[in-house]
Amino acid sequence: MKSLTLLGSTGSIGASTLDVVARHPDRFSIFALTAHTNHEKLAEQCVQFKPEWAVVGTPEGARALEARLREAGSATRVGHGPAALVDVAEHTGADTVVAAIVGAAGLAPTLAAARAGKTILLANKEALVMSGALFLDAVCEHHATLLPLDSEHNAIYQCLPPHKAGSGVHGGVDKIILTASGGPFRTRDPATLGDITPEQAVKHPNWSMGRKISVDSATMMNKGLEVIEAHWLFGLPAERIEVLIHPQSVIHSMVAYKDGSVLAQLGNPDMRTPIAHALAYPDRVEAGVQPLDLAAIATLTFEKPDEARFPCLGLAFAALRQGGTASAALNAANEVAVEAFLAGRTRYTSIADVVAGVLDRIEHRAVRSLDDVLEIDREARALALELLGAAQHKPRRVAATVR
Ligand code: NAD
Ligand code: MG
Repeated sequence: MKSLTLLGSTGSIGASTLDVVARHPDRFSIFALTAHTNHEKLAEQCVQFKPEWAVVGTPEGARALEARLREAGSATRVGHGPAALVDVAEHTGADTVVAAIVGAAGLAPTLAAARAGKTILLANKEALVMSGALFLDAVCEHHATLLPLDSEHNAIYQCLPPHKAGSGVHGGVDKIILTASGGPFRTRDPATLGDITPEQAVKHPNWSMGRKISVDSATMMNKGLEVIEAHWLFGLPAERIEVLIHPQSVIHSMVAYKDGSVLAQLGNPDMRTPIAHALAYPDRVEAGVQPLDLAAIATLTFEKPDEARFPCLGLAFAALRQGGTASAALNAANEVAVEAFLAGRTRYTSIADVVAGVLDRIEHRAVRSLDDVLEIDREARALALELLGAAQHKPRRVAATVR
């Protein structure tokens, strides 16, 4: 029986994880569930899965959740705030931590889980992109186990010989090929990209996901973050990580070996497959996913990403090559710009402009501690807000200066 802390249980990955867990009550139990603001949904989940702990963002949220739980006869205890997230991530009550909080907010509890030697099922790619070597050092030093939930990295993990993520590249590997759907704007007239609305950007053709990652998929910043994630997980330099657009999202990624073999993992685009793989690893369990019908799909196509259409992808490669704090700055700037876009405060095309502007202007340095990461995160956010403010008043000039 595996006992789970599920960080970010009310999100898209959280819901898919609980769907798989509910199919196997004999294998998995829930120790803790966490959510930021959605205490209604968290209360429902607590009634169904009976965790020992539930954590929300604020004291008010905790009071509201507690009232709902007591009314429903639930004995789940309630905590709130970042310290409580760390507590449930490192608690001895769970052996496995599913890291499914979106963005930088997931870093502290995910790192705490690594330091407590847990098995970490990692969806929160931003945490690894920000902290890179620090995170992997914590995993190694405390004998934690890292299993990727991100579908591409989970696919690569499945195509590699058995190994520990973060333990270096396998000698026979030539390169890894991350597939990308190309998102909703793959064929849209580039002259109209500035008119894209948040509603259009979050409508992904193949995957149903949270709002932030959906925008990242549209700009292909998601693939850029995944390139950095793959670098850390599989120990390959940027030159040996390739991105290939594959609009059907059936091949979830590939590993090319030196002897010419290319291994791929295929499946319907449903996150319950990588989640079930990582939850049950090394066993295989039923995930509720439709069997793949290749005859019905008939055609799988591939194309190279258009760098002019997807500038965020090139920015992520540049940050990875630069090293040090550049990836954390890229991530922070992107989070701020995407939030502004989703709130209707800036244009879709400003996302790449703001990220490029922050990477250009920020003072890059080496990462020696978590404090270095948090400091660059703060600086990059402040700079991104400044650029966004300038963009609102003088959109043309800022776009010109940051390019
Ligand atoms: P989502 O927006 O649907 O859910 C996010 C979860 O994080 C929610 O439970 C929310 O309550 C919690 N959260 C948000 N802000 C928080 C904060 N400040 N403090 C604490 N908790 C907070 O997002 P998602 O689509 O489930 O994605 C989660 C993570 O998984 C992201 O890092 C994403 O990149 C990654 N991921 C998602 C998918 C997918 O298919 N959705 C696939 C691969 C990777
Ligand atoms: Mg992915």
